[in-house]
Amino acid sequence: MKDRIFLSSPHMSDEGFELQYVHEAFQTNWIAPLGRNVDQFEKELAAKVGSKSAAALSSGTAAIHLALQAAGVSENDIVFCQSLTFSATANPIIYQNAIPVFIDSDYKTWNMCPESLEQAFERYPQVKAVIVVHLYGLSADMDRIVELCKKYDVVLIEDAAESLGTYYKGKHTGSFGNYGVFSFNGNKIITTSGGGMLVSDDEERIAKCRFWATQSRDQARHYQHSELGFNYRMSNVVAGIGRGQLQVLDQRVAKKKYIFEYYRRELGPLEGVEFMPWNDWNEPNFWLSSMTLSGSVRPIDIIEALEKENIESRPIWKPMHKQPFFEKYDFVGTGVSEKLFENGICLPSDTKMTDADLQRVVENIKKLWWE
Ligand SMILES: *Cc1c(COP(=O)(O)O)cnc(C)c1O
Repeated sequence: MKDRIFLSSPHMSDEGFELQYVHEAFQTNWIAPLGRNVDQFEKELAAKVGSKSAAALSSGTAAIHLALQAAGVSENDIVFCQSLTFSATANPIIYQNAIPVFIDSDYKTWNMCPESLEQAFERYPQVKAVIVVHLYGLSADMDRIVELCKKYDVVLIEDAAESLGTYYKGKHTGSFGNYGVFSFNGNKIITTSGGGMLVSDDEERIAKCRFWATQSRDQARHYQHSELGFNYRMSNVVAGIGRGQLQVLDQRVAKKKYIFEYYRRELGPLEGVEFMPWNDWNEPNFWLSSMTLSGSVRPIDIIEALEKENIESRPIWKPMHKQPFFEKYDFVGTGVSEKLFENGICLPSDTKMTDADLQRVVENIKKLWWE
């Protein structure tokens, strides 16, 4: 069997930056709780993104949960959520006993459709918050989405879990809304083995989120709690990995872009192939190179052909309004997200791939058009 080619796997720096920070944590015995790596990782990520403050957490999902809590979302509140996404975007709405209303995507961005969002505002003027996603490192149309959220005076949360290193009109994704969320899960563009970050310009709210994330311990000698708490903080060892990974983020983005351009050059001319949208106002991180198919070759044909060659690929996210768990909630749109799901595929985008690996992927895909 040939070596496996992964969709996106952890890629530590050649220089061993991550281990240096982890080593420092061991030497100072700042294994837990918190410590210098956590403080520095928060500062370094906030600076990278251009936000005033950040809270390092145990996952991106925890960051979305605390963003909703910080936005004051509670029982029976309505939250607009992009339908085309990973379930982790929507689950925290249910943790808060709130009600999701799913919003369609458009073909121009693959992300939240501003027209559908506007319709949703007309249908549910009492809405409490909006969660927009930047899928696969493509940015949503932020000018229009921010404008609508301002017009209706609603809190905007950006799920930027897949878009660290992505800019919209020169500004980093995650820094447009009231809150931005990042993930360092194993398959993301950089990883800490697992972790997340909540960013905001509202330093007081971020301080409050850190408080909730450490069990809401009041300032008292004994254990005293006036609010519900969570155990959501990132460990100092894990934050050390994050600091090292952040130093190679630009290298990872450059390689992801190289992979995208390689595929687009080789596969773009095939009949029915259309690559994910790269708008001129967007500098994507190209987390996963994705495309849609409109000819006789279907995504499943490619997925199965590649799997036989020990190469990992997968369909586009299945929209939330089509998930058994979420289908009872309302949806506003025209069905673009379903079409993207039916016709879309994510190609292996692992930054450790060599040109020979890329060649192997491309040849196995091209074969399907020649048969
Ligand atoms: C990975 C991901 C998350 C969740 O991040 P975790 O750190 O795994 O909890 C949320 N939203 C999107 C779009 C993601 O891809």
